[in-house]
Amino acid sequence: MTQGICILGATGSIGRSTLDVVARHPDRFHVIALTANSQVDQLAALANQCHASYAAIADASLAGALRDRLRKLGSDAKVLGGPKGLLEVATLDSVDAVMAAIVGAAGLAPTLAAARAGKRLLLANKEALVMAGPIFMDIVRQHKVVLLPIDSEHNAIFQCLPSSLNGWEAKTKGIRRILLTGSGGPFRERARTDLQNVTPDEACAHPTWEMGRKISVDSATMMNKGLEIIEAHWLFGAPADAIQVVIHPQSVLHSMVEYIDGSVIAQLGNPDMRTPIAQALAYPDRIDAGVGALDLFSIGTLNFEQPDFNRFPALRLAYCALAQGGSAPAIMNAANEIAVAAFLRGVIGFLDVVNIIEDTLAVLPAAPLRELADVMAADAEARAEACRAVDRRARSAA
Ligand code: NAD
Ligand code: MG
Repeated sequence: MTQGICILGATGSIGRSTLDVVARHPDRFHVIALTANSQVDQLAALANQCHASYAAIADASLAGALRDRLRKLGSDAKVLGGPKGLLEVATLDSVDAVMAAIVGAAGLAPTLAAARAGKRLLLANKEALVMAGPIFMDIVRQHKVVLLPIDSEHNAIFQCLPSSLNGWEAKTKGIRRILLTGSGGPFRERARTDLQNVTPDEACAHPTWEMGRKISVDSATMMNKGLEIIEAHWLFGAPADAIQVVIHPQSVLHSMVEYIDGSVIAQLGNPDMRTPIAQALAYPDRIDAGVGALDLFSIGTLNFEQPDFNRFPALRLAYCALAQGGSAPAIMNAANEIAVAAFLRGVIGFLDVVNIIEDTLAVLPAAPLRELADVMAADAEARAEACRAVDRRARSAA
């Protein structure tokens, strides 16, 4: 029996890396469904290539074009459109595992639908967990979901923990801290005064990883590490003061777990997302990911530095949002999505991104999260507030 796979966000960086690993193991996996936002030609080509039974496009107005394209390629994949189509493919009976690789809050609903359906969940879409942490994890527990982190750091931590994700339980398991590594992004060594006028292309030129544009900007502001602090908190039940960020420019050591006896266990590997993807797809087995062996002799040196909260205030904001709790992380995430999109459109400067998040968090009070509607309300309110902040900054710069 091979595992039926659904990839949410198949046309993205993580989606394509997942298809690469899956294609290496036809004896283990077969693709049931692929989804994309609006990339009709890419989605059709990928669905045809891997003989997917379903292709779903979030922009419902493109369903007809997707159908035409698939038929031209000779594929008889069933086409679904709109947010409902994404929910439908994520919960199909024939799907065993769902790769949640949509970027941003748009991934929350289909990811939670997959969890509610009890699918094995491979989570790349960190924003979904950051927004809805306690609700997301309740659903995971209720439906006994096997939740496997794809983010390279969290996948590393998962591999360094003694057993599966059964909560923090530091005392019983003897864990002292999580050491969450980050490359420091493309501007690690730049003075803050040089950053306001950097271009989107400069911000997206990550020194060690090739990724989608939104997460690349997050890495440059270090909001990506901020999101990952909150992600680690929910995945592993770790309190904020037991999560230490460590800057490690080579991106070879992907994170560590420190135990009370002084042991520190790390996971290392080449910076290639196919490693965590393969680890999660095959867990608890190990499979070839197409990734070359780590050549320690050519790497030679590994460096570690303290994070600089003054140059990268996004880290401080994330710790504050986590301490505030409730809807604060959802507000932070939504403001970040709006600000990053505005920066990528060239409407605001680089430093404005984090300033807008800070302003939005200052204006909107955090509210308790009782149900998903509370998350969606906080998200919508923060987006509206952040849009106003973008307009103000764009006007004052003009
Ligand atoms: P990407 O931009 O390359 O791809 C995003 C995918 O999501 C595309 O398939 C796109 O069609 C789809 N999508 C975008 N907006 C959508 C919408 N509104 N509705 C439905 N689908 C939509 O992004 P990526 O770099 O692959 O990142 C995906 C997720 O994985 C992000 O949450 C990111 O933080 C996380 N992640 C990525 C990497 C990496 O190396 N790329 C590493 C760790 C974590
Ligand atoms: Mg990461």
